[in-house]
Amino acid sequence: MKKKVDERDTMFARMAWSVGSAAYEDYYARNPDKKPIDDELRALPGLGSQETPTYSPLANPIIDGIFGLLASWHPLVDVEPSPIKIEQSPETWTKWVKGTATYLGADLVGILAMKPHHYYSHRGRREEVYGEKISNLLPWGIIIVRAMDPHMIHRAPLAPQTVETVRGYLNVAVTALSLASSIRQAGYRARVHMDGNYLLPLVPAAVDAGLGALGRNGLLITKEFGPCVRISAVTTDMPLLETSKGTIFDKVQRFCSGCNLCSAMCPGKAIPTGPLDKMKDNWIFSSEKCYRVWRNVGTDCGVCISSCPFTQGAVDWTKLAETEAPEEYAQEIALSCQKRPFNPDPPEWLKGERAWQTASYQKI
Ligand code: SF4
Ligand code: SF4
Repeated sequence: MKKKVDERDTMFARMAWSVGSAAYEDYYARNPDKKPIDDELRALPGLGSQETPTYSPLANPIIDGIFGLLASWHPLVDVEPSPIKIEQSPETWTKWVKGTATYLGADLVGILAMKPHHYYSHRGRREEVYGEKISNLLPWGIIIVRAMDPHMIHRAPLAPQTVETVRGYLNVAVTALSLASSIRQAGYRARVHMDGNYLLPLVPAAVDAGLGALGRNGLLITKEFGPCVRISAVTTDMPLLETSKGTIFDKVQRFCSGCNLCSAMCPGKAIPTGPLDKMKDNWIFSSEKCYRVWRNVGTDCGVCISSCPFTQGAVDWTKLAETEAPEEYAQEIALSCQKRPFNPDPPEWLKGERAWQTASYQKI
């Protein structure tokens, strides 16, 4: 049986608690080994703060403004459904859900039957629900993917990259909230999982919903957009049918075994090199090393999305599906992607009166 992830162990949760809070005291009493590194990370400049080298007086109000807007929508994630239930077959509802989500902006939609391991064991990120056991699980998961603009992501790790990240969070939240509201109107329960308010880790659920594979960089690698996407989910008791997985993503992990570009370009050395750890069936990613970069740089970095040949459209999926040696094909592709398409210039509408702080970036 697959082990559940405890949200309290995630970096986002650990960095969300205030020092001395009940969550803080409980967690480090049970995990004293994590306290020194977490306290050190907490003492670094705040994400997006003016002390960080990527601070932009034009980009940061957008980033903070949209994150604030998303937080204000949290009361909408779990609302009672209409008492009048509309009955349709699972085939009809599946077509309706996929069609509605796409109409509402989703670039990719997949459905999976939710197993207990898809959910976190306990909540952790928000202090008011810290330690709550996740129960009363809904049986179906609808995974929503929206593409990000690679031209903005190639500005990573500068602030325009984070402007695009936050736009991605906004887009997936709008689609999920609108779809969930429609499902409730049809008389079924629907719980949205969006920025800052999740009951499940999204990447494994997206893999099981047939939308992609887990890449070395810890992200979902999709066929259409590589890892240049944001994800949200809606869980529901509306009767649905699972999306078939197919074989298209079977060779992605072997491709990653031969590629290593994200690992080589990661400024924090957070991404492992070498082949997949067969025992763990996962890449062992250091969220602490990654988060240290975020706090030192001031953005959510994004270099591993930009550096991926799947983001750059450099991988021929037909060739990947046909080759018996995905590792060798990856090495060939990696040679042509040694220099990632970094663009230090912000778009015109984010250019201010002062020179952009690429000089500071060079010091990172
Ligand atoms: S976001 Fe940056 S620091 Fe984190 S894993 Fe990706 S490249 Fe490394
Ligand atoms: S950069 Fe290479 S190793 Fe990293 S996720 Fe993309 S394909 Fe895999």
